[in-house]
Amino acid sequence: MAKPYFKRLTIVQLGKPRPKFSEFADEANARNSIPPCPGPNKPIVEFSPKLPNVVMTGANGKAGNICLSCFSGFLSDTPLETTAFVAARLASDQLGKVTCDLAHDYSQMAMSYAVSQRNEQIWRDAVKMGSKAEHCAGKRGMDEVEVFQARRMKGDVVQWHQLNSSPTVEICPFCYWTKAHMLGAAHMFSPVSRQLPQGHVHICSMMGSDTSETTATNSPDNFEDSVAWRGRILFDALRPGYEAGDWSPLTSAGRMLATNAPPCGGNIRGFSRGSNRRWYGRVNQAYGNQNDCTIIICEECYMRSVNGKPHANLFSQDMTKFACINTGSDGLIYCSTYTNRARGVVRQCAETGDLVSFARWWNMREELRRKKHSWNPIIEVQLQKEKLADAHRLTQARLKANAQINTMARLGSAGAAELAAGDTGWRYGNSQVGYGFWTSGAADAQMDWIRASNMPSGFEGNPINLVMDTQAILTQARQDELNFAAVE
Ligand SMILES: [Zn+2]
Ligand SMILES: [Zn+2]
Ligand SMILES: [Zn+2]
Repeated sequence: MAKPYFKRLTIVQLGKPRPKFSEFADEANARNSIPPCPGPNKPIVEFSPKLPNVVMTGANGKAGNICLSCFSGFLSDTPLETTAFVAARLASDQLGKVTCDLAHDYSQMAMSYAVSQRNEQIWRDAVKMGSKAEHCAGKRGMDEVEVFQARRMKGDVVQWHQLNSSPTVEICPFCYWTKAHMLGAAHMFSPVSRQLPQGHVHICSMMGSDTSETTATNSPDNFEDSVAWRGRILFDALRPGYEAGDWSPLTSAGRMLATNAPPCGGNIRGFSRGSNRRWYGRVNQAYGNQNDCTIIICEECYMRSVNGKPHANLFSQDMTKFACINTGSDGLIYCSTYTNRARGVVRQCAETGDLVSFARWWNMREELRRKKHSWNPIIEVQLQKEKLADAHRLTQARLKANAQINTMARLGSAGAAELAAGDTGWRYGNSQVGYGFWTSGAADAQMDWIRASNMPSGFEGNPINLVMDTQAILTQARQDELNFAAVE
């Protein structure tokens, strides 16, 4: 960020009729003595020794404070340097309370654009609305209930917008104010007005991502997910508009995006029956058969990895009804092929037709996923116990918890052993724990876990060391999380 400043400084100083190195050095030294920006939402507490307690504040009583580091980074030697901000010394009661309004990425982008347009108001509007909308709704998006609640709290600022030329392409309030509206594209969008199914989920098509700016946008596979891909395409399409007044690339980008199936919600957004989403995949005909599997794929992942492939029929069952019945614990349907890895393996199978290899891999992934998620209620219970333990002193609960922790440790290592050994094709278990275990150790550990979980917990006795127990649980849960991440 300091670079543009030094670049501008060099141009200004060396552009003088008689450039003096000493002047350049003084300026550079002054800049180097300024502490860095504290970052978003953190108070400015460090100052240049030469300018104690000084920040830049909006000229003529206008809103906005920025730290000296950001001022020199974005405004020194620009047309707005002398008009938009003035130096102000913070009073003692203001110290530690003033934050830097240029700390956010979106604010910096708005300032760069405002400088190029010589119009500071562009920055002020973007920051005002952006701070109300807070952040991009991203891949999780918002359903109608969430939109309703947000609007009741914050008003029309948090209105979603649709692209006029392709109304199914929506952008979130934050991206509307800090990107589309800020860059002069407001006339290309309107508040969402089309008739929506009651379970509709708005997903933002202008989300930013960390994917490198040079990444080719010809395939969503180059991005972590299609929402990041859409975001890059739609945002890039604004450029000819704000640079040269040509908005037709935005129209054609929108048209292209609209031909895609609605974006995958990943593992963070489930869809209700009323969302009108379509689901594909296959159902394992013989329960427990490791050579077959059940898989639910969202429409977009289906189009990306199955449609048109030689063995597409393997995954082309209409799973919409099945998915509506077999929902997650929250009653919603989640896509299970939301990563590039998972889509890649599905795609490979749709190419080769080798269902057995695929099914074995998929079933292992599912097992590890279940194991990872099985910790959630356990962790919840443990936290609950910690609360209870403050009030009561549970000896027996401690014994029980310890027994559980011990078996949990074995469950965890059994899981790792399973992974290391690979799939031998044999399954272990009994009627109580099921027959899905890859090693007898894993099945035994699961059995001990059930026994430990059934131990009574009393309400009398000594205080217990729940903090350590919780630590052990979290450690094991983390291990299972990593095991799943390795195949996710
Ligand atoms: Zn700053
Ligand atoms: Zn957004
Ligand atoms: Zn999907």
